[in-house]
Amino acid sequence: MIEIKKAEVCCGCGACMNVCPTKSITMKEDKEGFLYPHIDAVTCVDCGACEKVCPVVNYQKVVPAFEPVAAAVQHKDREILRQSTSGGAFTAIAEYVIDQGGVVFGVELTSDYSVRHCMVDKSSDLKKFRNSKYVQSDTGTTYSDVMRCLKAGKMVCYSGTPCQVEGLLLYLENSDYDREKLVLVDIVCRAVPSPGVWKRYVDFIEKKYGALKSVRFRDKTLGYQYSTMEVVTDGGKTLREGIESGKWLRMFFSGMITRPSCAECKFRSIDRRSDFTIWDCLNAYHVDRKLDETLGVTRVLIHTEKGKKIFEQICGDFDYDYVPVEAATKNVRELIASPAVDERRTNFYSDLKVMDMGDVLKKYFPDTFMVRAKKAARRCLNVIGLDVWVKHYLRKE
Ligand SMILES: Cc1cc2nc3c(=O)[nH]c(=O)nc-3n(C[C@H](O)[C@H](O)[C@H](O)COP(=O)(O)OP(=O)(O)OC[C@H]3O[C@@H](n4cnc5c(N)ncnc54)[C@H](O)[C@@H]3O)c2cc1C
Repeated sequence: MIEIKKAEVCCGCGACMNVCPTKSITMKEDKEGFLYPHIDAVTCVDCGACEKVCPVVNYQKVVPAFEPVAAAVQHKDREILRQSTSGGAFTAIAEYVIDQGGVVFGVELTSDYSVRHCMVDKSSDLKKFRNSKYVQSDTGTTYSDVMRCLKAGKMVCYSGTPCQVEGLLLYLENSDYDREKLVLVDIVCRAVPSPGVWKRYVDFIEKKYGALKSVRFRDKTLGYQYSTMEVVTDGGKTLREGIESGKWLRMFFSGMITRPSCAECKFRSIDRRSDFTIWDCLNAYHVDRKLDETLGVTRVLIHTEKGKKIFEQICGDFDYDYVPVEAATKNVRELIASPAVDERRTNFYSDLKVMDMGDVLKKYFPDTFMVRAKKAARRCLNVIGLDVWVKHYLRKE
């Protein structure tokens, strides 16, 4: 029976829940708002299946069987590009799988603003997966659903964080399925924020500004170089804040609300068992000057022969260039190292138990003079079109 001795050793992928033959495992939120497995000791038969599929317990360094290939891509369809976080690489891969009669699993923001994995089989539904949701997603029963689809002979694309993709691979490990039909896409993942804190934040915003109409964690209205989180209320109010001033982004990037296991993540590596790894290319100017850096560019790392063949089929959807792997991965710290965690994290969660969200935000993420000055400077540079040039200078290597 799986035992979580410390929070850092569980990434919350849910492989153990999916594999349990007696359905004795349920995923429950802990006091920080993350999902962890809970075992019903009465119905558990101690078969050990849960331990065998845990990607953290069974971690093994990936030994690459294929020389990886990297590319910088930008989707030619301007609407897909606008909706996507970066260059819209994911949509092209997913569309390829749907065109083969397959299904795609990705992460959606539901109508009640929770974040979860789900499956679609139509291109028109891929829209819900576009744009990163900066909250840990609930994989639910999607691993079992993947197995069912593969057994039915369907092609399946599964996208998620590296730990979610590893959890799926271990869950499928002893099953009889055609690996050629499974297309795995993982993201470069800084860390995943707490779904419980996200719920509290949504309540706080709704109380302050009224019911929400939409949320986009990475909006490009002010340009890709100055991505902002956009919240629109039913009353027509639009809140748009960048990493320097937006409360959710500040909480996320400080490491205050990220999952404990992210601080010891074992899956940060250039070598991966997925077919594709996708991530931002905010320094597109230094990587490939032909692509419009203001619209968004995705860096794609192809890890398998199958991935390469798929890329060759879909590359017509993109403006793109192959890039040396060393250049594509240079200085991408999140790919190989865990970011720092805010040392006030424990106090933050203690306060959150007893204090109102607004007061907690004021205490830990106040709108100081520096925050307001940074925001004003960024907005001014953005309006006069100089922000992109400042970024060129800052990102020069
Ligand atoms: C929590 C998180 C942290 C990230 N950290 C970094 C980082 O540090 N550095 C970096 O360069 N890029 C990071 N990314 C990846 C980046 O934001 C884009 O996903 C990537 O650039 C691909 O963009 P795209 O335009 O090709 O895809 P899009 O069309 O935007 O597709 C987004 C893809 O991400 C998946 N996805 C969305 N939300 C989640 C989620 N919560 N959990 C798992 N999968 C999700 C969707 O299913 C889809 O497959 C992160 C993404 C997430 C969700």
